[in-house]
Amino acid sequence: MTDDVLDLAAARAQAYQAGLRERRVAADAGAAELHALIGGPLPDGPTDPAAAVTALADALDAGSVATAGPRYFGFVVGGAMPATIAADWLTSGVDINAGGYVLGPAASVVEQVASTWLLDVLGLPADASVGFTTGAMMANFTGLAAARHHVLAKSGWDVEQDGLQGAPRVHVVVGAERHVSIESALRLLGLGHGTVHEVAADEQGRMRPDALRDVLAGCDGPTIVCTQVGNVNSGAFDPVGEICELAHARDAWVHVDGAFGLWAAASPALRHLVDGVERADSWTTDAHKWLNVPYDSGLAIVAHPDAHRAPMRLSASYLVHELDGQRDNSDYVPEMSRRARGLPVWAALRTLGRSGIADLVERCCAHARRFAVSLNAIEGVEILNDVVLNQVVVRFGDSDDVSRRVIAAAQAEGTCWFGGTVWRGVAAARISVSNWSTTEADVDRSVDAIRAALSA
Ligand SMILES: *Cc1c(COP(=O)(O)O)cnc(C)c1O
Repeated sequence: MTDDVLDLAAARAQAYQAGLRERRVAADAGAAELHALIGGPLPDGPTDPAAAVTALADALDAGSVATAGPRYFGFVVGGAMPATIAADWLTSGVDINAGGYVLGPAASVVEQVASTWLLDVLGLPADASVGFTTGAMMANFTGLAAARHHVLAKSGWDVEQDGLQGAPRVHVVVGAERHVSIESALRLLGLGHGTVHEVAADEQGRMRPDALRDVLAGCDGPTIVCTQVGNVNSGAFDPVGEICELAHARDAWVHVDGAFGLWAAASPALRHLVDGVERADSWTTDAHKWLNVPYDSGLAIVAHPDAHRAPMRLSASYLVHELDGQRDNSDYVPEMSRRARGLPVWAALRTLGRSGIADLVERCCAHARRFAVSLNAIEGVEILNDVVLNQVVVRFGDSDDVSRRVIAAAQAEGTCWFGGTVWRGVAAARISVSNWSTTEADVDRSVDAIRAALSA
């Protein structure tokens, strides 16, 4: 019986995967149809598990956008490689609690090993600590919690014990093009998002070092600088090495949001884009974007493990810490009982290896350049950014309305999917390539669909 329902789920998931390459990218069903499939009042009694799982699978089939497929170019989402899906199934199948070593040594060792591999492939300090979070949003929160601890401790303030009331003012410096999740993390940490010092950006969205120097000159006392590698629109990189130099000269902490852009560090051909990034104090990246593991996978990396653990570690009479000196995963994330989300990360790193990771990143960037070249050759299409990574910002026609119309038409047609944005005051499309399974043929097919949408 149990076997049946697991086999059923596996078969449905495999059928979905098999159909991904050809299915319409946009979802077929909306909320009303989905409620009809899985809604209604709570049943008074049990439902056959196979029937329940079938209903869920039907709803997913009808109500999913094929973000995992090869022609989804919206936001920056990645997909999930087969080995990482398999590792994710094992994570649920064993239902291991990855909070502490004592609950499951395997989950602890997997994260320990994956941490070492990650620091190696990203070229970050080998003694940095790594927390496996739900995503980059929580990785930003975790890195900035470590930053808050560190800069206040240096001023003689124990923020974990005494909170922020009466604490020295913490100056938070952010780029004009920061990601919204930085603001959210600052809110959750009691630092506020309305009190930040904003540093102007250049025409590609990169933080301007001369402007940073001026801003830092006005920051007295504990200071945190939030920088970004991989602008969500243009893919541009803040000059992170120069930023570290300026910030460290003033004893400030540097946090790097590299949700997708940090993966440039794993490619010998692209590493120059993040030159000096290893000198920062904390880094955020995602595994569920460019590393192509299933969702629920971000990484918070901190150069100062004590500052990382200080705001996260829990103590209670019944908790055993670091049994035999081994890692307790919950020391590095704002969670206790938690999913063993290191397993799919380990599987991605193990199956790709150093060369496979570099190839995945470089392939996506080559596809982005192919998009840019092909689209640029179409009358009335303009590429608005320097395509340095995997992001292409495109304007259609001569008014914002034309761009919006083409984006909507392409989404509805369903060959591919990309979203809209506003870039430097102009409505534009934003094409992001981050899926392991995208091919040149997928790019060409998508360009054809865009050309048709434009001439319609
Ligand atoms: C996607 C993204 C985030 C948020 O990541 P989640 O994994 O969705 O929480 C933060 N920063 C940048 C630059 C991003 O692209």
